[in-house]
Amino acid sequence: MRHTKIFRPEYADNFSCIGSACEDTCCAGWTVPVDEASYRKYSNLPDGPLRSLANASFLLASDGTEKANATHFATFRMLPSGFCPFFTEERLCRIHMELGESYLCYTCATYPRYVHTIDGVKGGGLWLSCPEAARLVLLNRNLLVSASGRGYQMNWDETATDQPLRFYFWPIRALALDLIQNRKYALWQRLFLLGTFSRRLEALARGELKRSVPGLLSDFESAVSTQGLRTAMEKIPANLPLQLEFVFRLTAQRVNNAHISPRMHEVLDAFCEGVGHSRTATIESQVARYADAYTRFFSPFFSRHPYILENYLINAVLREVFPFGPDLGSAQGEQELTKEFAKIVLPFAVIKGLLIGVAGARGRKFCSADVVETVQTTFKHFEHYRHFLLEAHAMLVERNLDNAYGLTMLLRN
Ligand code: SF4
Repeated sequence: MRHTKIFRPEYADNFSCIGSACEDTCCAGWTVPVDEASYRKYSNLPDGPLRSLANASFLLASDGTEKANATHFATFRMLPSGFCPFFTEERLCRIHMELGESYLCYTCATYPRYVHTIDGVKGGGLWLSCPEAARLVLLNRNLLVSASGRGYQMNWDETATDQPLRFYFWPIRALALDLIQNRKYALWQRLFLLGTFSRRLEALARGELKRSVPGLLSDFESAVSTQGLRTAMEKIPANLPLQLEFVFRLTAQRVNNAHISPRMHEVLDAFCEGVGHSRTATIESQVARYADAYTRFFSPFFSRHPYILENYLINAVLREVFPFGPDLGSAQGEQELTKEFAKIVLPFAVIKGLLIGVAGARGRKFCSADVVETVQTTFKHFEHYRHFLLEAHAMLVERNLDNAYGLTMLLRN
C-alpha cells in the first residue's frame, strides 16, 4: 500500500473579485447561462425598476437553439455593446448591489472558480479569463503550497493491478503535476513526456498495452528520472513556420467570427508588431523576427520566472481534471486521454506563440503585466470559445500532425 499525502490546492479559495478596479469585466461579450432557480427569483422580484429591467433582460434557452436544462435555463440578453444589462456605469453588478450575493445566478456567483469534488476532496482551479484570477495563478511562486498545511492522506494499493484506471486517479495526477514542475527538462519536453504518458495510459485502458497501471506509472517515473526518452524527443524538430501559421489562422478565425475586446486587439497588435506582420511581409521575415523575439526576450524572461507557465499548466490540470476530464471515471472518459492532453496543449501553443510576438514588441520592457494581459485575453477569447479546439485540431489533422510529432513541433522553439 502506498500512502500519498496530497494537499488540496487552496489558491482558488483565495480569489476575491476586485470589482470596479478590474481592467476587464467578466460578462462583456459572452453568453452567460442562468440557472432555473435564479431565473425564477428574478421573475418574482417585487414591482420596481429592477423587476422591469429583469423582465426585459433574459432569453429563455428553450426559445433559441439551445436545449434548456436546470443549469442552463436562460441567458442574459446582452446589450448591443456586449455588456450585461445589469452592469452599471460604476462597473458594478446591479443585482449584487441591490439584492446581494445570494441573488447572483450560479455562473456569476462561482466565476472564475471551477469547483469539483473528487473522492470527497473539494478542488478545482480558476478560469484565467478573469485578470485577477490570472494574476493570482500565474504570479504565485508557490502555487501548490498549502498555507494552512492541511493535507489529505490518500492510500492506493500498488498490488491492485486489475482495477479500472479511475482507481489510480491520485497517483496519475501526482505524476502529471510532478512532471510539469520537473525543471530538469525544458517545458516543451515535459509536455512531450506528458503526452507520451497520456497515450500509453489510453492504450492500456483500451487493452492495447499489456501492463498494469502501477507498472506503467513505475516504468514512466523511471524513464523520466533516467532521461530515457530524451533522445527520442530531441529528434523532433521545432517548426516555427507551423507555429506562426497556427497562431495567425486561429486568431484570424476568431477575429472574423466574434466580438473581440479592445484588450484582445491590443495583444494582437503587439504580436503583429513583434513578428513584423504586414500585408507585404514574407513568412521567412516573420519567422526570423519570431525566432529572434524568442531568443532575446521571451526565453530570458521565462528563465527568470519559470513558475509562470508552469502555473498555467498546473491550473489547467486541476481545472480540467486531467487526464480524465469532467467525465471522470466514465468508461468513455478513460479512452479519451490524448484528447484531454490536446485540450491543454493547444490553447497553450496559441498563448506561447502570442507571448513570443508580444515579447518581441515590448523588448526589454516585457514584464509580468504583459504576460497576465496576454494570457487573460487569449484565454477569454479562445478557451471559452467552443469551436476553438475543433478548429485547432482540424488544422493539425489537415497536415497529418495530430500526433506527438505535430504537437511537439508546435511547442518546441
Ligand atoms: S473579471 Fe474577475 S476581477 Fe473582474 S469583475 Fe469579473 S470576477 Fe471580478
